[in-house]
Amino acid sequence: MNGTGAHVEAPPLTLEQFRKSLRGELVLDTDAEELYRLAKQIWNGDWEIDNRPKMIVHARGVADVRSTISYAQQHGMELAVRCGGHSLKGLSTNVGGIVLDLGKHMKSVRVDLAKKEVWFEGGCLVKDVDAETAPFGFATVLGAVGNAGTGGLVSGGGYGYFSRAYGLSVDNVLEMDVVLADGSFVRASENENPDLFWACRGGQSNFGIITSFRMRLFECPKEIFGGLVLYDMEDAVKVLTAFDAFASDPQCPREASTHVYSICLSPEQKLLAVQVCYLGDPKKGMQAYERLLSSAVPVDVQSKITTYQEYQVFSDEVYRIKGIPSYWRSRNVKAGTRLPVDDLVSIINSSPSEGILVIEHFGGRICEVDPSATAYRHRDSNYVFTFTGFGFQNANARKEVKNWMNNAVELLEEYLSGGSYLNYDNGPAQASFGDNLPRLRELKLKYDPMNFFRCNINILPAV
Ligand SMILES: Cc1cc2nc3c(=O)[nH]c(=O)nc-3n(C[C@H](O)[C@H](O)[C@H](O)COP(=O)(O)OP(=O)(O)OC[C@H]3O[C@@H](n4cnc5c(N)ncnc54)[C@H](O)[C@@H]3O)c2cc1C
Repeated sequence: MNGTGAHVEAPPLTLEQFRKSLRGELVLDTDAEELYRLAKQIWNGDWEIDNRPKMIVHARGVADVRSTISYAQQHGMELAVRCGGHSLKGLSTNVGGIVLDLGKHMKSVRVDLAKKEVWFEGGCLVKDVDAETAPFGFATVLGAVGNAGTGGLVSGGGYGYFSRAYGLSVDNVLEMDVVLADGSFVRASENENPDLFWACRGGQSNFGIITSFRMRLFECPKEIFGGLVLYDMEDAVKVLTAFDAFASDPQCPREASTHVYSICLSPEQKLLAVQVCYLGDPKKGMQAYERLLSSAVPVDVQSKITTYQEYQVFSDEVYRIKGIPSYWRSRNVKAGTRLPVDDLVSIINSSPSEGILVIEHFGGRICEVDPSATAYRHRDSNYVFTFTGFGFQNANARKEVKNWMNNAVELLEEYLSGGSYLNYDNGPAQASFGDNLPRLRELKLKYDPMNFFRCNINILPAV
């Protein structure tokens, strides 16, 4: 063993020896049905995701992570890493391989108030970290729902309510502990293994298993203005035009994060929801949003003065339940593009009941970071369009959702940048990493030449 603990040749462990070597638990596909079902469960219940691993390891720490990598390699098994299990494409599971689950036990969080930093393990959900930081009046940049896993979210980019003000999650990571394919346990930061640090901030699980993160904390107001305001589709043109004026204004406050999406009550009745969040003085937030929210008469107003933590888990109500079939596609919008309002309205009007169009306002600090500063490339879009199919129950309904998305993407083609946000889309590597791909492939060759970590948006080692 060298100083980082890289594997040395050792005789393969038997299954029982492997089980005994773990602090955590091992669940096999031959165990009781319910135990196995729960252990392998992921968020997306789409039946087209083949979720039949041979075994699930609920790791309790770095030693379990290293033993599992070693066992997988000794037995030629595929390894998928799981944190929150929210990958839309099921990248945290496989067929016949091992799922290494960090999300059951590796959830420690430590706040350093003096340094304004938070350290947490790679199995934490967004809400686990918030629960420790928010009571001290701080938060870091994580996603806009509490149940998503930090492991996938941060390593893939990480967009949340603080992003317009402070950038993506990857822009606020200070350090990561990583177990590499050869079993070494290394630190990645600006000073230690800076190339690995660069690659893990946007390169997802291609380079190693991130067992912990250290991130910057930001002051979080005690009270914020946030919630949903709902409009009739009759008023959609007015509301989307007002949203575009709000979001395209260079003076748009960075405290304001806005998502606009369609809601289908029945095939005949759809609504347009404006989800607002102002991370500053709530009165200023109400003023900032006044013109947008009064662009039409709402059918329901659920926005209010609330706390950040309460607001952060607000969307979880919709997405709380695991196992609902889902299919997403996401496209970044070309820099400087104004919203094609009429096309968007026609896309919403033509959506099947399970189809939702989400328009997220990015911009702000995200765009100011150099696109080559981290592996996360696509920073210049002011908007990201995400088409989500949620809750379809049979093959026909699934097909209808996919057709709707295909048609929508085709219709919007001229406005799209060609890049996509890998946390939402799971498209090919070129679309996800753009011009950062060649450097990522060189680093893949350095850190994972055998492409052991391949349950992800896969980056092939350079040849
Ligand atoms: C309902 C919902 C809401 C969402 N909201 C947001 C949002 O607001 N902002 C946003 O940016 N994204 C959001 N996402 C997308 C989300 O960030 C991605 O799905 C992300 O991959 C989820 O991470 P996870 O750990 O839960 O996923 P998992 O399925 O566990 O893993 C996803 C990928 O990350 C890898 N991975 C997981 N943990 C680690 C680790 N510790 N080290 C290395 N690799 C790891 C896995 O191997 C896999 O390739 C949302 C997704 C859903 C389903």
